[in-house]
Amino acid sequence: MKLSERIYTKDVFECEASTPVVVAGFVRELRDFGKLKFIILADREGEVQITAKTGEVDEELLNVIDSLGKECVVAVKGNVRNNEKAPGGKEIVPEEIKILGIAESILPLEVRSKARAELPTRLDNRFLDLRKPEVRAVFKIRSEIANTIREFFYNHGFYEIHTPKIVASATESGANVFPILYFEKEAFLAQSPQFYKQACIIAGFEKVFEIAPAFRAEKHHTTRHLTEYTSVDTEIGFIESYEDIMQVVEKLIVEIFSRIPELCEKELKLLGVELAKPKTPFPRITMREAYKLLENQGYSVSYGDELDTEGEKLLGKIVKEKFNSDFVFLTEFPWKTRPFYTYRKETEPEWTCSFDLIYKGVEIVTGGQREHRYGILVKQCIEKGMNPEALEFYLRMFRYGAPPHGGFGLGMDRLVMLMLNLSNIREAVLFPRDPERLEP
Ligand code: ATP
Ligand code: MG
Repeated sequence: MKLSERIYTKDVFECEASTPVVVAGFVRELRDFGKLKFIILADREGEVQITAKTGEVDEELLNVIDSLGKECVVAVKGNVRNNEKAPGGKEIVPEEIKILGIAESILPLEVRSKARAELPTRLDNRFLDLRKPEVRAVFKIRSEIANTIREFFYNHGFYEIHTPKIVASATESGANVFPILYFEKEAFLAQSPQFYKQACIIAGFEKVFEIAPAFRAEKHHTTRHLTEYTSVDTEIGFIESYEDIMQVVEKLIVEIFSRIPELCEKELKLLGVELAKPKTPFPRITMREAYKLLENQGYSVSYGDELDTEGEKLLGKIVKEKFNSDFVFLTEFPWKTRPFYTYRKETEPEWTCSFDLIYKGVEIVTGGQREHRYGILVKQCIEKGMNPEALEFYLRMFRYGAPPHGGFGLGMDRLVMLMLNLSNIREAVLFPRDPERLEP
């Protein structure tokens, strides 16, 4: 038997009776009725029943089946047979079974079990947890989302870039940065590609994107923060205003919501998720309006502050009722809540040309226009209490011609979590990292 001749289990159901086939995968179930033995063999694409009956198959083959345990890896050569009682109406009568990988008889996690194990147990045994079709479905969908995003950017003339993850200074706030020992010096893990994607615009690249890890030393435990997450970042040159950036976000989201139901019909069904194409334009609400909307609901939020988790959630609810939209752009964030490189409104400098995208009451995107005028940028840096000398490597770029530009960062993991109604961001990540979890 040759593994190169192998077909996926789902393709067995397309075969006529008596077709010789080779399949391989995990022994998901074993049923033994003495003279009649069944294996449910599972691979990435599905499952098929292997039926071995005394008299129909070799005695030796029955002994091989007896030696198997759940989750052993086997290859099976045999012939397809129609059988109404078999799942999907077909089964394989084996001629040869080869054991490719032995599994210990006591599994740390049941792959097929009605009782759902707790998330920490699942994550400790992620390689087994991921064998469950409904868990793997999340990552098939995530893979298609990543590809859709990449294709979207390529189709719209963006360059894909790769920026350093070992950096000399914090880009966002200094508070949640991971210091690392870099030979004799202190360095940091990149919190975002902010400075480098801007550098590409100043270098004349026009439009760039990156899909890469970002690191944040988030001490608090929440269902939407990790210490390492996947950030989808873009930067665009020669923009008129941050509205140009919001339109790209909107188009990207619509593209994802149009493509994924086509590409992942089976997986969405398995997860019980229906994705409707969102209506555009997404509602746009200034932060000043958001404060009022929240106040009207009796939610106290101090004017000029960022919304907390509860505030974001309530706002999501208000928007759903008012506009029947799961998405809302919050715009014109107060200057005091935004980083020094944010472009401020000319007429009202206390407010900025920036936005967040809230989806189902959770922030998934932050973006805006950047300050590209050297003098003002240095002033803003000082106003935020930062030392321009420490940022010289960044600031000097703006002395030699910088186009007006802006961009955004989208949290891939949060998007997947919310699209698929997962209750914890950890479920949207293969091997999540949080303050306690460094393994597996
Ligand atoms: P939050 O206020 O929710 O902590 P943030 O405003 O600090 O997020 P940004 O710097 O705006 O985060 O990052 C852009 C996007 O990256 C966020 O909108 C979010 O989708 C994602 N993101 C940021 N931090 C994390 C994290 N620790 N874990 C997962 N995703 C994150
Ligand atoms: Mg943000």
